[in-house]
Amino acid sequence: MDLRIIIFSRKGLRLSMMVLGLVLLGIGIRYTDLAFPAITKHPGTYYLVHTEEKVMALTFDDGPDPLYTGYILDVLKEKNVKATFFVLGESAKNNPDLLLRARQEGHEIGNHGYSHTYTPSKFVQELIRTDEVLQEVLQERTAFYRPPGGVISNAVLAGVKEQGHILTLWSIDSRDWVNPGPAQIVQNVVNNSFPGGIILLHDGGEKREQTIRALGPIIDRLREQGYRFVTVSELRNFESVKPVQK
Ligand SMILES: [Zn+2]
Repeated sequence: MDLRIIIFSRKGLRLSMMVLGLVLLGIGIRYTDLAFPAITKHPGTYYLVHTEEKVMALTFDDGPDPLYTGYILDVLKEKNVKATFFVLGESAKNNPDLLLRARQEGHEIGNHGYSHTYTPSKFVQELIRTDEVLQEVLQERTAFYRPPGGVISNAVLAGVKEQGHILTLWSIDSRDWVNPGPAQIVQNVVNNSFPGGIILLHDGGEKREQTIRALGPIIDRLREQGYRFVTVSELRNFESVKPVQK
């Protein structure tokens, strides 16, 4: 059939829109991790600090991954940068050596739930399960929790706080989740950087070769601009606006 007929006929247009919708829906489900930049501004969450000091936090979600996390750790070691890894309990349980290596090399570990479910009613239960894995492997607990997809609601926020965790999002999205090419990932980060920002990257969940290739240039470019990198707990020490006491 002639493609033009499909596109320009009314029925064809409807069909095309439907296919496009389904494709977008598919992408949306797979990549919720980034879909809603506005949610990072939800009150009560931690996604930046107010500071004039040129500090930022690099964060990696969805690992530890047996294929990719080692390469990320190699780059961070070579560049002498400490980052924060929001790990999945399931992956941490299956790759305890990588989790230990990350910790031993001075990185901070955060909780990203257990199985990466996008069902908010399961978030707190999964948070607890992942805390148990971290306790077992590292003999320590983390204060920081990042929900899968950055999906939040007041109920999630309250549940996470009740467990003694800080709901941590991001303010600079590398968009490495669409694998747009290493150069684009570098640009997405560098062009949107600001003092006190939290940068979202991924070391698992998908192919991460592009993230690995982008990481060195991201660090180099930002260092040229005078930035240095700290973990999410260190970043909080730079907050210059004191929270209102209630
Ligand atoms: Zn994730």
